Amino acid sequence: MMPRDIKKLSSDILDVLVIGGGAHGATIAYHVAKAGYSTAIVEKNDFCGSTSANSLKILHGGLRYLQHLNIKRMRHSIKARKEMMHLAPYLVKPLPCIMPLYGKGLRGKRAMQTALFLNDCISWDRNDGLPADLYIPNGHIVSKQKCLEVIPGIETEDLHGASVWYDVLAEDTERLVLEYILESVNYGARAANYVEATGVEKGTDNLYHVTLFDKLSQQTHLIKTRFIVNASGPWLERCLHGSQKSIQEQKWALALNIVSKKKIFADYAVALEGQGKYEDKDAIIKRGKRLYFFVPWRGHTMIGTDYEESDASPDGLQVKREMIQKMVDEVNAIYPPAQLTYEDISFFHAGLLPMRAKLDESNIQLEKNSTFFEHTDSKFSGVLSVKGVKYTTAPYIAHEIVCFLKKQYSPVLSKESQNESSPHPWQWEANESALREMLEKKYGQRALQILQFLRREQDDDIWIDRDAQLLKAEVNYLIHEEMACKLSDIVFRRTGLGSAECPQQKILIKLADFIGNILGWDEARKEREREEVLQRYFPLVLNEV
Ligand SMILES: Cc1cc2nc3c(=O)[nH]c(=O)nc-3n(C[C@H](O)[C@H](O)[C@H](O)COP(=O)(O)OP(=O)(O)OC[C@H]3O[C@@H](n4cnc5c(N)ncnc54)[C@H](O)[C@@H]3O)c2cc1C
Repeated sequence: MMPRDIKKLSSDILDVLVIGGGAHGATIAYHVAKAGYSTAIVEKNDFCGSTSANSLKILHGGLRYLQHLNIKRMRHSIKARKEMMHLAPYLVKPLPCIMPLYGKGLRGKRAMQTALFLNDCISWDRNDGLPADLYIPNGHIVSKQKCLEVIPGIETEDLHGASVWYDVLAEDTERLVLEYILESVNYGARAANYVEATGVEKGTDNLYHVTLFDKLSQQTHLIKTRFIVNASGPWLERCLHGSQKSIQEQKWALALNIVSKKKIFADYAVALEGQGKYEDKDAIIKRGKRLYFFVPWRGHTMIGTDYEESDASPDGLQVKREMIQKMVDEVNAIYPPAQLTYEDISFFHAGLLPMRAKLDESNIQLEKNSTFFEHTDSKFSGVLSVKGVKYTTAPYIAHEIVCFLKKQYSPVLSKESQNESSPHPWQWEANESALREMLEKKYGQRALQILQFLRREQDDDIWIDRDAQLLKAEVNYLIHEEMACKLSDIVFRRTGLGSAECPQQKILIKLADFIGNILGWDEARKEREREEVLQRYFPLVLNEV
């Protein structure tokens, strides 16, 4: 259970306050609380509402880091990915990836065979302790014929076959972040969404006094803490006003994926080279072109990632129609059989990532490694700021932060931090197998908590909408146990109902009515909530609104 209790959150002196509830904040809160520190995490919007909700959902094993011969980075990725797979096995699955091989030399079959072999050796322990259905197989080379079966219609001149390797798809990145937050709460952490850290002062008691603004009640609270971890993603510099001196001016790139209703390829994530020249300055093995991935997901295809330099504020981040159209055109140029139109695009992912340099229009170099650093100016000495570049490696950064904290201050292991989950009192009946399967697919073991709400259901009609497979008990659970406060929280970050395309208007109306009855919304509020959901699809063409 995760109560949203801001008074309790700010009642004691904390060891660690984590600012930001994206992939980094959530994994840090989990690891720090698990290590026995009294911890709180605050997020100014909903958990995983920003960059972390916008990734291509690939948990990398790091094959591409072989181009940089960066074995350390590969190992960090592999370990971090395994942790996520252990924590939420219901949210992940092995993802077969395929890339056509043209010509000879470093981009040919033989070089790729060696790379796949090294990749498998370096990730020798990738399956340790995982259930058999999540095992990640070895990579291999397939024939030209097999390549054309999977990717029909590509250029055949000088095509020698394709390399196949396996990454992992996080089917619901938003719930994966939430799993970390829920587990951190199990370890005694306190968590609140819609709470913004608006000011930080160092007190004479040598503690940080942080002002928190609760956006829902419009009230301000003060919290005292020994350490602060600034995991505010693209708000990195803005979050700690007055400490710009210790954060060198960071450049940002807007990263964009599009989601197409068309299922372009079956089963495989397909990697194809883009049109423009691209030089990865650090790569030892240079490809010369940026790779675009076509990832099958929820019956749709995610395609990415495109980058452009951006000085937009993360609060006002907007994707223009031209940017989406440019990407549609690029996809048609890379793979003409796709015949993609603007109307095929049902969703997009956009976020700001730390950029290192812009060599020319098509040549944006991102920062390579996620890092954290300690602020040195007296006002913020001891505050840690995270600069995250990958969702996948967030648990690794969290682990490093715990190591750093342990050198400064030993936690007093509280009772609360010893995650003692007792067996659940509720059990499924034999005639509930279909419901059970549906809920376990979405919520894993938490389905049993939803069963508890289902048993209390007074109404004979258990559904909010049967076609959308949405139960009243499910939404009740999400509001009472997972801190869903808004319609958009449920549509985008708890159920994934609207994560690939806009839900039907009738579903949004029924859902807003149901939530409104619980939370006391009037008609005007319900409409505002629906409007906020629809706003997320702008500037796409919505079929039915
Ligand atoms: C298009 C795209 C594709 C990508 N693809 C992949 C991929 O396939 N695999 C991969 O591993 N990575 C991928 N990434 C990178 C990855 O998504 C990011 O590196 C990662 O999610 C960043 O997480 P974060 O927690 O640092 O930031 P965020 O997720 O942005 O979290 C920061 C949070 O801090 C909150 N916040 C800010 N200020 C305050 C405050 N004052 N008080 C309280 N809260 C505050 C914000 O609201 C925000 O929710 C991709 C990124 C993009 C944009």
